[in-house]
Amino acid sequence: MTKKIAVLPGDGIGPEIVAEALKVLDCLVRDFGLQVETEIALIGGAAYDALGTPFPAATLALCRAADAVLLGAVGGPRWESLPYEVRPERGLLGLRAELELFANLRPAILYPPLAAASSLKPERVAGLDLIIVRELTGGLYFGQPRGRRLTPSGEREGYNTLVYRESEIRRIAEVAFQTARKRRKRLCSVDKANVLECSELWREVVSEVGRDYPDVALSHLYVDNAAMQLVRAPTQFDVVVTDNMFGDILSDCAAMLTGSIGMLPSASLDQRGKGLYEPIHGSAPDIAGQGIANPIATVLSLAMLLRYSCDDAATAERVERAVLAALDAGYRTADIHSEGTRKVSTGEMGDAIVAALRAFNP
Ligand code: NAD
Repeated sequence: MTKKIAVLPGDGIGPEIVAEALKVLDCLVRDFGLQVETEIALIGGAAYDALGTPFPAATLALCRAADAVLLGAVGGPRWESLPYEVRPERGLLGLRAELELFANLRPAILYPPLAAASSLKPERVAGLDLIIVRELTGGLYFGQPRGRRLTPSGEREGYNTLVYRESEIRRIAEVAFQTARKRRKRLCSVDKANVLECSELWREVVSEVGRDYPDVALSHLYVDNAAMQLVRAPTQFDVVVTDNMFGDILSDCAAMLTGSIGMLPSASLDQRGKGLYEPIHGSAPDIAGQGIANPIATVLSLAMLLRYSCDDAATAERVERAVLAALDAGYRTADIHSEGTRKVSTGEMGDAIVAALRAFNP
């Protein structure tokens, strides 16, 4: 059955990197008979400029009707002075919440040709292959009450609420245990249970869910220690599960271990496997429009889309192998370029991946 993909390029480098993922998709449709159709819609600053809202109703309707959503990135300095409710990021947060995309899967894999681009010594990151499962629709980023106010003495005060219900913790823990079960069967839950009651409950519920997964080895780390371990000995991790804010920070930290934030894809899934797929990086306004952004995170997000929302692991692997082949052949965008490799533009990297895909065609 033909799958429908909503494509939201967004802002900054978003349209540039999404164009390369679409080149790859086009090749899969034309040369490999993949049955998908795409429709493009506005989100973020681009939607605000065109329609006065970062999250148009038509975009939500398209995403609801689609089997999966492929997104570039949103945001940029042009929209930073807008009121909070119409900032580009509200479009993305709104989409995640409306589609109930509570499980964010962020793999961090070190591709051997990029060992030199990692921020750590090659021997510390050799073999790195971990996945961070981040809770995405609860916690501090959504908790109420939130806001700014004046104290009785007239001082400005900002406040947010960290809150998790048992059911929210349970469903993300289930996703994490199931993910671990398909991998090396090790799950590390990250919290701050020594300080936060919310984390205490997190640890309790994750441990309870763990009783149904005796084949998965569960461990717990406080977030400060987890951050330290990620840069000390990152290959000890297989699957890491954590809350919204800790996951936001730890996954960027893991990103640097792989060489560039431009390499890391993500999937945000609902309870039925429908998903939003996007690179973990932002709209990179500092390099937008220059044709130098790395499109690999977006191409690998497309691979995740094929795996999780189209249930097509074979085509997903084909895309991942094509990315590796392009890297093996020495193609590098500026962010991962090193001596002895060939520096290419965003478009040339997309072309190299497509050429590698075609080379596999039987
Ligand atoms: P960023 O991820 O956009 O950029 C951080 C650094 O990484 C920059 O130096 C950038 O040039 C580089 N970089 C990012 N992606 C790259 C790629 N594909 N290739 C090469 N280099 C890349 O983070 P930021 O600068 O903190 O945020 C910029 C804007 O993006 C802000 O408006 C922010 O709110 C937004 N943002 C959006 C998302 C999202 O859409 N999911 C996520 C994070 C930030």
